Amino acid sequence: MTQTTETIFSLAMPYRETLDIRRTVYTGGNGPRVAVTAGIHGDELEGLYVCHRLAAWLDELQHSNPQHLLGQVELYPALNPLGLDTLTRSVPVFDSDLNRSFPGSQQGDLPKRLAAAVMTALDGASLVVDIHASNIYLREIPQVRINSEFSDLLVPLAEQANLDLIWIHGAATVLEATIAHSLNSRNVPCLVVEMGVGMRLTPDYCEQLTVGLLHLWQELGVLAPEVVLPPLTHHPLVADDSNVHYLNAQTSGLFVPATAHWTDLRRGELLGTIVSPFHGAVLSEVRSPVDGILFTLREYPLVYEGSLMARVMARKGGAR
Ligand SMILES: [Zn+2]
Repeated sequence: MTQTTETIFSLAMPYRETLDIRRTVYTGGNGPRVAVTAGIHGDELEGLYVCHRLAAWLDELQHSNPQHLLGQVELYPALNPLGLDTLTRSVPVFDSDLNRSFPGSQQGDLPKRLAAAVMTALDGASLVVDIHASNIYLREIPQVRINSEFSDLLVPLAEQANLDLIWIHGAATVLEATIAHSLNSRNVPCLVVEMGVGMRLTPDYCEQLTVGLLHLWQELGVLAPEVVLPPLTHHPLVADDSNVHYLNAQTSGLFVPATAHWTDLRRGELLGTIVSPFHGAVLSEVRSPVDGILFTLREYPLVYEGSLMARVMARKGGAR
């Protein structure tokens, strides 16, 4: 078992610096290759910590039982280093969303070249997990989002990832220029994980996903069957476009949550109030339209009329 850090893409910057995309590679035997990507949005940090936790686990394996790594693990914690350095979601200067730049092009602008290099690096992998952390406005329960076009292949993988929710999107809503869509279209299975909130770490969620990824790798034959892993603690519910309800703010103001994330809600239950900073009035209330599970909740308090406040997955057969 060996561990190396490699540069997969390097571009000279205007004033002497270079932009480097690096990965850490753990190599054991000739078994399957798997990869974890993170930091494609510069304001999303949860995936960076998952990469750290996986690296720490692999470091320990290298010390105790190096023969148990049968394949290869690649960690790409920072796909958008300029964005991470400057706390910017997009690629600074280009102001373009790196996750709308795939599959990229070697002759394109910086985001497109970077995307093309990442596609080349990930070619042939048995599984890629791309970790996102929502944004600063919404907190998400650990979930995987799957395009229905690829659900037959991806749902069985996602079920083993120790997550709370699998959300299957209709093909019509798919963003084709994402890393996941580009990889899945080239027969490299890619799961998109959304969890936590932008600019923050949620260590419990990161731990939950870390355990799930280790189990997935063992299932794929990257880790030996005799490796003893922490037990799985979560089995996901499945949502699709028919049972996910979006709750939008009826007024602008300050949102004050009244319930916790991942709560089992009753129809009409209060999720929070929107209040005025100028006077004592409650301007509007956010209530669940169905019996269901609260899996997205507004994190950033300032809201505008129409802002997304929450997403609730209706329980099957629940009142509408
Ligand atoms: Zn993201």
